[in-house]
Amino acid sequence: MADIKTILAENKKISHEMLRANADQIDQTRRFPRENLQVLGKAGVLGLLIPTQYGGGGAGIAEMSEVLDIQAQNCASTAMVALMHYCATVVIAAKASDALKQQLLPACARGENISTLAFSEAGSGGHFYMPVSEVRQNGGRKTLSATKSFVTSAGEADSYVVSARRAGAAAPTETNLYVIAKNTQGLSTQGRFEGLGVTGNASAPMSLDEVTIDDATRLGEESTGFQTMLEIVLPCFQIGVASVSVGLAKAAQQVILGRMSARKYEHAGGAALASIPRVQYVVAEITLAVKSGHAFLREAVRKVLAADPAAMLDVLGVKVAAADACLAAVSRAMTLGGGWAFGKRGGLERIFRDAQAAAVMAPSSDVLKDFIGKASLGLPLF
Ligand SMILES: Cc1cc2nc3c(=O)[nH]c(=O)nc-3n(C[C@H](O)[C@H](O)[C@H](O)COP(=O)(O)OP(=O)(O)OC[C@H]3O[C@@H](n4cnc5c(N)ncnc54)[C@H](O)[C@@H]3O)c2cc1C
Repeated sequence: MADIKTILAENKKISHEMLRANADQIDQTRRFPRENLQVLGKAGVLGLLIPTQYGGGGAGIAEMSEVLDIQAQNCASTAMVALMHYCATVVIAAKASDALKQQLLPACARGENISTLAFSEAGSGGHFYMPVSEVRQNGGRKTLSATKSFVTSAGEADSYVVSARRAGAAAPTETNLYVIAKNTQGLSTQGRFEGLGVTGNASAPMSLDEVTIDDATRLGEESTGFQTMLEIVLPCFQIGVASVSVGLAKAAQQVILGRMSARKYEHAGGAALASIPRVQYVVAEITLAVKSGHAFLREAVRKVLAADPAAMLDVLGVKVAAADACLAAVSRAMTLGGGWAFGKRGGLERIFRDAQAAAVMAPSSDVLKDFIGKASLGLPLF
């Protein structure tokens, strides 16, 4: 496995070349970015967070953030698939048995096993940490029937980290996480979702119909799923989504800066839009939004790595702050781009659609503000 510096350099090169070249076609045809993932996998990018003993890069969330930011500048669909793979591999590395890690992680590190999270259910919506599905004990056999409302890489991934209440749970937080392989009997994808943005990430509902649950595939001790989702998955997911938002905001900024110099008026003697004070003012707002989103992200990463007791507030806040900054930057860029931005030619329209996903993905910005308010007031989150 390549060292971290080489992996980061490879990610930069692949993103700016291959991901950028394929992005519009992936978006317009809504196809899974398989070839991007194969190349990223071979370069060690998909194994970034996997411990070196399993063939991964052994890196942490700072490197993940950099990787996803650069990917999202070029193709947010690919970045979103990589993010969900990172969240799944982080929890497998932290909680699977040695045998399961040995079985899954080397292939995950090479990108030959794409993994993802199947948490969300219609019964709990954006409150993804509260599945309503429950494992049933039928004699000596455990089974799970569940409908997972949105799964990134649905039908495309090789393994799924699935949440469910444990058999006989007395409270909704008595949950487990299991790894389910793609060809497992009873696991199926339920049509297509046809989202507004990140159209290549193959988000779709999935169902589990009497799937046999083997305790050897459980991640962690019985009934620790809720804690694992909050302590291990949430920081990775929140910082990852925020990194995608920051990458998208930077992409919008780059596109519009070029356009403001290129768009010239004949009636004004060839003056560019960039020469108009009001345009400069809006460009300043975009610059500030990008910088504030990035600054919050760096601060959250720093606090998590330092195990700062105040890190939780930043983990909750970073996804909202980056999503808001991104939406502000992108919508101002759309205004400055005029009719050109409203069409598909400049690439801003795709960025605008992709930028909407972060606020909706659970926990949504509204749910997070609910938590942030409680945490700020010193009240319990649950
Ligand atoms: C592109 C994309 C990819 C996704 N990928 C995955 C994946 O890989 N795995 C996975 O498990 N899930 C995934 N999801 C699902 C996602 O994480 C959310 O679970 C889902 O978007 C929530 O959808 P919902 O329509 O059920 O929301 P609902 O629960 O219906 O909520 C609607 C809105 O109600 C508001 N709301 C609800 N409760 C509160 C509250 N207490 N306080 C304030 N406001 C509240 C929020 O604004 C929320 O956005 C994905 C979603 C998207 C859009």
